[in-house]
Amino acid sequence: MKLIALWILCSVCTLASAESSHDKPIKIIVPFAPGGTTDLVLKLIVNDLQAELRQEIEVINKAGQGGVTGALEIVRSEADGYTLGMATASTTASHPVLNKNLAYDPLRDFVPIVNIAATPNILSVHPAFPAHDFASFVSELKRNPSKYTYASSGFGGVTHLQMELFKALTATKISHISYIGGGPALNDVVTGQVAIMYDNIPSSMSLINDKKIVPVAVAAPHRISSLPGVPTFKELGYEAMNRMAYYGIVGPKNTPDDVVERVNIAVNKVLKKPSVKKRFSELGAIPLGGTPQDFTEMIRSEISVYRYIVEKQGLKIE
Ligand code: GLU
Repeated sequence: MKLIALWILCSVCTLASAESSHDKPIKIIVPFAPGGTTDLVLKLIVNDLQAELRQEIEVINKAGQGGVTGALEIVRSEADGYTLGMATASTTASHPVLNKNLAYDPLRDFVPIVNIAATPNILSVHPAFPAHDFASFVSELKRNPSKYTYASSGFGGVTHLQMELFKALTATKISHISYIGGGPALNDVVTGQVAIMYDNIPSSMSLINDKKIVPVAVAAPHRISSLPGVPTFKELGYEAMNRMAYYGIVGPKNTPDDVVERVNIAVNKVLKKPSVKKRFSELGAIPLGGTPQDFTEMIRSEISVYRYIVEKQGLKIE
């Protein structure tokens, strides 16, 4: 009798906690400023994801240190399933490779939940830049060493790393200007304060369509269907540059398995919706989805690729 009473009591407790878990919003930390690709990719699915989870989602931009500020905030948050975050090629691969004193290890301190999308990267220039195709772009830089600057989404991030790789491969000199995300970086390129931008394609797409910036080369397995005239770095003979970025959801270490499973299933469902697929393709992004293990493997393999690139080229980011 006592046992039955206890069982009833515990079932009620479980039910209560399961229901109340939906009363509280999930916070998702974006480690870059609004208007950048990390922010755009999350905002593209957030309404559908809220509906799927039947739970409110608060998007919190915590930009700084090329994504490290927000990444640390995710790592240090309570692992109760109410705080998750976006993880990108910058926070999970380039910083861990470039910064030996980084205060977190992505594979130890994050629980990968799901990889949302991969995005090609794009090299573009302000329309007033004297060269609009790759060969004349490189010649212009060679004729004028250190004359131009380029904008990146943050110091030590993947766009910074890839542009330093570009400089090493082409023996050119351009100074770096770091921003707290692709959004603020693009603002200064559009106004002509900075001549060159290396970005993940979604944040640049509408500016390219409006002719506010001019695409020069794209890092993707194939040319982008909406930009058929823009060659890939591989075609141009710079295969090492031909790397995409990625954007997924992680939790802090010890995030409960049921949260990981619930969010993973919901994101996979959302990514299959034709309306979501259409929005991704308009931005030039490739929806991925898959299991938490798939995302873990992707992070592991990107770390080893970037480590190889950095060591082979002797890249030092200062
Ligand atoms: N370039 C960054 C990355 O791929 C994201 C930049 C942004 O969202 O502003 O990690």
